[in-house]
Amino acid sequence: MDPAFAGPPAAENPIGFIRSPTPQLRALIAGQQRVLPAADFAEMVGTIRRLFEKYTAALGAALAGLERGRALHQMMDAAVASASHVAVSCRRGCCGSCHSEVEITQDEAAVLRERVRGGVEIDQGRLETQAARERMSPAWKNFWSTENRCVLLSAEGTCRIYEDRPAVCRRLLVTTPPEACTTAGAALAPVRILLAEVLLSAAISLGDRGFGSLSKMLRPMLQA
Ligand code: SF4
Repeated sequence: MDPAFAGPPAAENPIGFIRSPTPQLRALIAGQQRVLPAADFAEMVGTIRRLFEKYTAALGAALAGLERGRALHQMMDAAVASASHVAVSCRRGCCGSCHSEVEITQDEAAVLRERVRGGVEIDQGRLETQAARERMSPAWKNFWSTENRCVLLSAEGTCRIYEDRPAVCRRLLVTTPPEACTTAGAALAPVRILLAEVLLSAAISLGDRGFGSLSKMLRPMLQA
């Protein structure tokens, strides 16, 4: 059995066939399990399994590195489009989420390395600072601080590699006012997109390619 499909028995964990589900997928499943009749919930889990297997096969068919990183981005755009009916408040120049611990796959790190080697500037000092942090460091809680700015965020508050931005950035949409994203402790209403969470879970679960903070993943690749 592919290790990506390993996990606890289905009776204990309805999505035990996914090795590394995102916390958001776990929360979605738990919420649906509480409200859906058992038969409907079982049907939903079956749909998720088919989607997960489809995404895993598609990502696995792409060459590890640049090709797979860009395939993930294309697939994520399609998954996010499934929620295009939702009125989101995200706009160009919004960059609250660009002060948080964005995590990327090894394949996405390869995409970013190509952009940096191609001339896109990054803040090297901030890269070192952020890469030295533990995962989920309390420092990320002071999110609206210079030290937490993404190394790829321009002075104008735009993404320097927007067309190659990570899957996590692509799927992060909110319906709350933009000011809430720049106010510490403000309640946010993120848009939860099932397809996006299953896809990201497939990308994270794929082999041992790794998933971690953008700076932690990118720094060693720039040094190699
Ligand atoms: S990669 Fe771009 S969109 Fe993502 S956090 Fe960094 S600046 Fe923001």
